[in-house]
Amino acid sequence: ELDVDSIFDSISPKTKMIFLCSPNNPTGTLIDKEVLRDIAGKNPEVLIVIDEAYFEYSEVTNKDLINEFDNIFIIRTMSKVLGLAGMRIGYGLACDEIIEYMHRIKPVFSLTRLSFVAALNTFRDTEYINQSIEKGIESRQYLYDEVSKIDGLNVFPSKSNFMLINVKQTGFTASELALELMKKGIIVRDCTSFKGLDEYWIRISICTLEEDKKFIEILKEVLN
Ligand SMILES: *Cc1c(COP(=O)(O)O)cnc(C)c1O
Repeated sequence: ELDVDSIFDSISPKTKMIFLCSPNNPTGTLIDKEVLRDIAGKNPEVLIVIDEAYFEYSEVTNKDLINEFDNIFIIRTMSKVLGLAGMRIGYGLACDEIIEYMHRIKPVFSLTRLSFVAALNTFRDTEYINQSIEKGIESRQYLYDEVSKIDGLNVFPSKSNFMLINVKQTGFTASELALELMKKGIIVRDCTSFKGLDEYWIRISICTLEEDKKFIEILKEVLN
């Protein structure tokens, strides 16, 4: 979970912006809305950017906070649950003043017509969006349940489209395990380069149930 005190401790008169990610990467945990209120309310001169790249999977949003605070800027992407990563499109939510600043600095032609049309039509297709969320959450639950049953793996519950696993008890380091899985066609994220994590953490992402089953099979094979 977010170490809230460490945020407050590192704020100084020079602080202009605080970046927070909820659900967070790579932990998959949500930041409590009251914590966000506290940080924004106590630091009115600081812009609080909340990255909600995965908010659909958590079924929680902080967008109501932009009506309460003019120093909160929520950023979102269409690359995740909406499946438009190649279109390079996302959006932000904030009070009028912040949006106006964004207009001042944005390139004149910042989006292609094609990505705009794709985004608009995806937003209209609520059935697709709901299905995408539903299937994602189903995959997450399946992976969590199955990985939990495997000896030596310690998986953390996630509100995102991935989950963090501690592999220390398996006798593999994350990079060794990632390499063995790679040989069998599976790519997991070795999290050794993440600040604050040691060499025993991997992150896996949700897939289709069929792919999940294959992954679990290969994972067990490698660990045995
Ligand atoms: C994927 C992601 C984004 C946005 O990615 P784009 O494809 O550049 O829109 C932003 N933040 C986090 C934490 C992400 O995982």
